[in-house]
Amino acid sequence: MTPMTITEKILARSAGRDVVRPGDNIWVNIDVLMTHDVCGPGTIGVFKQHFGQDAKVWDREKVVIIPDHYIFTKDAMANRNVDVLRSFVKEQNIKYFYDVGTKDYKGVCHIALPEEGHTRPGEVLLGTDSHTCTAGAFGEFATGIGNTDAGFVMGTGKLWLKAPPTMRFIFHGNMPPYLMAKDLILAVIGEIGVDGATYRAMEFDGDGIFALNIEERMTMCNMAIEAGGKNGIIAPDQVTLDYVNARNAGQRPYQVTKTDPGATFMYEKVFDVTKMEPVIAKPHSPDNKANVSEVKGTKLDRAYIGSCTGGKLTDFKAAAAILKDKTVRIDTFVVPATTQVAQSLKTEMIGGKSLEEIFLAAGAKMGDASCAACLGGPSDTFGRLNTPISCISTTNRNFPGRMGHKEAKVFLASPMTVAASALKGEIADPRDCVV
Ligand code: SF4
Repeated sequence: MTPMTITEKILARSAGRDVVRPGDNIWVNIDVLMTHDVCGPGTIGVFKQHFGQDAKVWDREKVVIIPDHYIFTKDAMANRNVDVLRSFVKEQNIKYFYDVGTKDYKGVCHIALPEEGHTRPGEVLLGTDSHTCTAGAFGEFATGIGNTDAGFVMGTGKLWLKAPPTMRFIFHGNMPPYLMAKDLILAVIGEIGVDGATYRAMEFDGDGIFALNIEERMTMCNMAIEAGGKNGIIAPDQVTLDYVNARNAGQRPYQVTKTDPGATFMYEKVFDVTKMEPVIAKPHSPDNKANVSEVKGTKLDRAYIGSCTGGKLTDFKAAAAILKDKTVRIDTFVVPATTQVAQSLKTEMIGGKSLEEIFLAAGAKMGDASCAACLGGPSDTFGRLNTPISCISTTNRNFPGRMGHKEAKVFLASPMTVAASALKGEIADPRDCVV
């Protein structure tokens, strides 16, 4: 047996081969294809152009459609995109569609996918969104693809893929209370750069990773693409299986897959989390790393807590613990990733108050579950940076214009750092709030 990494093993299984080596080009069978309101219409156009107006998708239960980006807007083109999805779902009898304005609406696709049971170990999940890599947290191969590839997958259920080599990032030690997964992944990206993992698998390993809950593991994998990674991945353990088994849509069987002893990694880096500090990415790149202590005191105009990276329940719990019984000094926007997270904000309590009560009492503004200002969006998007202000955000990208105005400055940080900064109106160290 040739030892393989988890990524190589999953690709080998889905290609029907015994062994896959980095660089091999293979036909892969796809387990789930996800698309959303921004790329769905383009994908559908490619599918119809090449397979015919009357063509049917390869499997109506394996195409998952989640409108989430430009949802709560008066923008006519954005609304039309969702209409295109609706008519396609009807025409194709797609089983899993989380339509806005209905009880099925979920919000951000990368959080909705696991919540609704579409992420399983050992599978191949493709999505028309670069942060599809988030699902690697469930021990599967998950990556973003373009509309052309997605149109082909819609028609055939297959894709021609090159197997990536694997970089391994090992985290050891007990996580200090002032650090979150966001600090760890920003440290990785700062270390290797935004192109440091281009077309490579990023495997996260070590007791420091397996001590993280599933949402924090999602944060790690979510930002693999910010280093150019083809996929981010964490081997499944009992935490993963408990989460997946409680949700598995259609109760599909899946195969737990792990890296073989002796597998080859083209790069390895070990981090001691006990020695790490809160990290921030300064404008205008996720690899423009500084320790928070180095930029403490930088004036801010806005704080934003949301997105697939920093809009999960774990993120809001961490932020609320800091904001409780205090008042923010700058505009602070809170956007739950999904309706399920939004519901949990009403029921999850700290010291007798719900997280929602804590945020509102602190003076934060709360929006509906969606991508909201993470990607800027139409000018009426909740939280969008419409003027050249400075914002600290739990999101994943800070390129010019990403959250709206091209001259706005965006600092990326953990929910703890963002909450601590919202209280001061300047970049603040969560160690000053959390013992
Ligand atoms: S929350 Fe942001 S990064 Fe995540 S899918 Fe939406 S726009 Fe993309």
